[in-house]
Amino acid sequence: MAKQGNINVQTENIFPIIKQFLYSDHEIFLRELVSNAVDATQKIKTLKSLGELKANIDKLRVEVIIDKKKETLTIRDNGIGMTEEEVDKYINQIAFSGAEEFVNKYKDSDAKNSIIGHFGLGFYSSFMVSKEVEIITKSQKPNSTAVKWTCDGSPNYTIEETTKKTKGTDIVLHIDEDSIEFLEESRISEILNKYCKFLPVDVKFGTKKISIDDPSGVKDDEGKIKQVDEEVDNIINNTSPAWTKLPQDLKDEDYSSFYRELYPMEFNEPIFNIHLNVDYPFNLTGILYFPKLKNNLEVQKNKINLYSNQVYITDNVENIVPEFLTLLHGVIDSPDIPLNVSRSYLQADGNVKKISKYITKKVGDKLHSMFKNDREDFEKKWDDVKVFIEYGMLTEDKFFEKSKEYFLLKNTDSVYSTFSELIERVKTNQTNKDGKTILLYTNNKEEQDSFVSMAKQKDYEVLELEGPLVSHLISKLESENSEVQFTRVDADTVDKLIQKEDNTPSLLSEKEQETLKELVEKKVDDNKFSVQVESLSTDDAPFILTQSEFMRRMKEQQQLSGGMNMFGELPENYNLVVNSNHNLIGHLLNSKDDQKQSELVQQFLDLALLSHGLLKGKKLTDFINRSVGMIK
Ligand code: ADP
Repeated sequence: MAKQGNINVQTENIFPIIKQFLYSDHEIFLRELVSNAVDATQKIKTLKSLGELKANIDKLRVEVIIDKKKETLTIRDNGIGMTEEEVDKYINQIAFSGAEEFVNKYKDSDAKNSIIGHFGLGFYSSFMVSKEVEIITKSQKPNSTAVKWTCDGSPNYTIEETTKKTKGTDIVLHIDEDSIEFLEESRISEILNKYCKFLPVDVKFGTKKISIDDPSGVKDDEGKIKQVDEEVDNIINNTSPAWTKLPQDLKDEDYSSFYRELYPMEFNEPIFNIHLNVDYPFNLTGILYFPKLKNNLEVQKNKINLYSNQVYITDNVENIVPEFLTLLHGVIDSPDIPLNVSRSYLQADGNVKKISKYITKKVGDKLHSMFKNDREDFEKKWDDVKVFIEYGMLTEDKFFEKSKEYFLLKNTDSVYSTFSELIERVKTNQTNKDGKTILLYTNNKEEQDSFVSMAKQKDYEVLELEGPLVSHLISKLESENSEVQFTRVDADTVDKLIQKEDNTPSLLSEKEQETLKELVEKKVDDNKFSVQVESLSTDDAPFILTQSEFMRRMKEQQQLSGGMNMFGELPENYNLVVNSNHNLIGHLLNSKDDQKQSELVQQFLDLALLSHGLLKGKKLTDFINRSVGMIK
C-alpha cells in the first residue's frame, strides 16, 4: 500500500522557486545527484573499513542512463541505499529543509553570480528539470525491503514498497518538456565531462536500448516488470587524477600528461609545476602549472579549476587565490573552501585567507629553490616566467620581499643578474655626480640600437626590460631602493644619461646658440618637438631625439591602467637636441642659402627619427630621394 505524505512546508511551495532558480545553471542538478551517488558508494567503503558491513560488494560505480522512450534520466548507484525510515528522514525532512533554507537565503539576493557552488540545494535541484522524481532504493542493511518514493513537484509525495534486485539507489527523473535537452546524449556528456571528469568512483554513461520497464522485460511474481539491469559500460572519468597522488609517485611525464588531460586544446607545454599537498590546518591538494605567458594577461586568467573532493566547482578562483596566481593553470581541490557563500564573504573567510597565503608562499619557495638548485636552468626559463613574477611583485608585498632572492635582470649581452649582483657590478662606472646609481635599459634593442651602442661605448651595461609591467616595476624598485634610478637609453644624450661632471664647453657663443635654436625651430614646423641646443661631444650626432623618462613612464602607466587620465591623453613628446659642437651644425649656421639650410635641418631630423625607428611612409621615401640627391 502506498503511503501518502506531505512534505513539511514552511514556505508555500518552494518547487516553483527551485525551478526558476539559477536559470542558466540548471545543469548543476546532475552534479548534485552524481555527487550524492558517489557519496553513497564512499559510505560503503567507510562501513566496510569499520567492519559494519560484511557482505561482498560489487565494484562500486555510478551510472547515468538516458531512456528516450520513457523520457527519463536515471542516476543509479550501488552504494549504501536507504530504508524507508531513512528516506523519510533524509529526503522528506533533512534534504527538504536544506533546500528550503537555501532558497530563502538566495531568492531575493542577486546571489546568482556570487555563489561559487550550489551545494546545499542537493537532491531537490532535480526539480529544476523534472516534472516528477522517483527514488527507488534498497538499503545495504540485511533484510531490507526496497522502497519507491515519488513526488511530482508539489509538497505531496507517496512512498511504497517495491522490488529492486540490487542494493543501492536509482534516482529517476521524468524530464520536463522545457528541459528535454537533458535527454540528449551530447548534452549530458558535456555536463559529465565538466563536473564529473575526476570523480573517485567509476561513472558510466549511456542511453538505454530498451526502456527500463519495457513490456519485453521480465515480470516478477506479482506481475510487475522486473528491472532490466542492462549495463551501460562507457566510463567517463579518471578516478585517480594526478593531484590526488603523492608527488614522489609521479614522474615528469605524469605531470605533463595530466596537463593535457586538463587542457586538451593547449599546445604549449607548461614550464614547470608545483604540487600542493597539505592536510593541516586546512585540507588542500592540487597541481599548479606555469604556462608560457603572452603579453595579454587578461585572456589568460581563469584557467585554474577549483574542485571539492574531486567534484568540479568553478574555473573562477578570483578571491580565493591572489590575482597574480590566477595566471597559473591547474587544479586546486579543497573541501575547506566554503562554497555556498558570496564572493565578498569568501574573501573574508579565515580558511580562504590561509589557503591563499599558503599558495603564495609555495610559489615563492618553488621559484627560490629552482634558482638555488639549478641557476642555469632557471635562467633559461626566466623569460617565460618573468611577467608572472613581475605581476606578483607588484601586487603582493610578501611575494615582493621573497622575490629579491631570485628576481633576475637580463642585459643586452644576455647576462642575468639579481638586483644586488647588478648594483655591485655597475656601481663604480654608473653612479652620477649626485651619488645615484643609474641603471640603463632598453625596451626594444633593435629600435634603440644607436642609443644602446653609444651607452656601451662608455662601458655602461644596458638592461633589456620589456613587457607590459616594466614601467610599474621599475617605479616600485626605485621606491624600495632610493639610491638607484632606472633610465631608458634614449631618455637623454649619452653624456647626460649618467652625468658625471659639468658639460663639455660649447664651441658656439651664447648669441650663436640662440640664433641656431630659432633657425631650427623655424624649419622644424612640428610642435611634437621641443628644440634645445646643447654642447655635446663632436662625435655625437648633429640632432638627437630624446624622450623624458618621466613623461614616457607616465604615459605607459596610463595606457596600462586603461586610457585617459584627468589630463586627457598625454601627447607623444620628444626633445630635439641640437649638438652645437658638431661641425656640420657650424656649416648649417654659417650657410647663407635658405634652401640649403632647410635641406640640412630636414636631413638631420630624419636621421634622428631613423635612429628611433620612427621614419616611415612618405617621409622615408622623401629622405631616401633627398639623400641620393645630396650624394650627387
Ligand atoms: P546533501 O547531499 O547536501 O546532504 P541532499 O539533499 O543532496 O543533501 O541529500 C540529502 C541526504 O539524502 C543525503 O545526505 C543522503 O543521506 C541522502 N541521499 C541522497 N542521495 C542518496 C543516494 N543516492 N544514496 C543514499 N543516500 C542518499
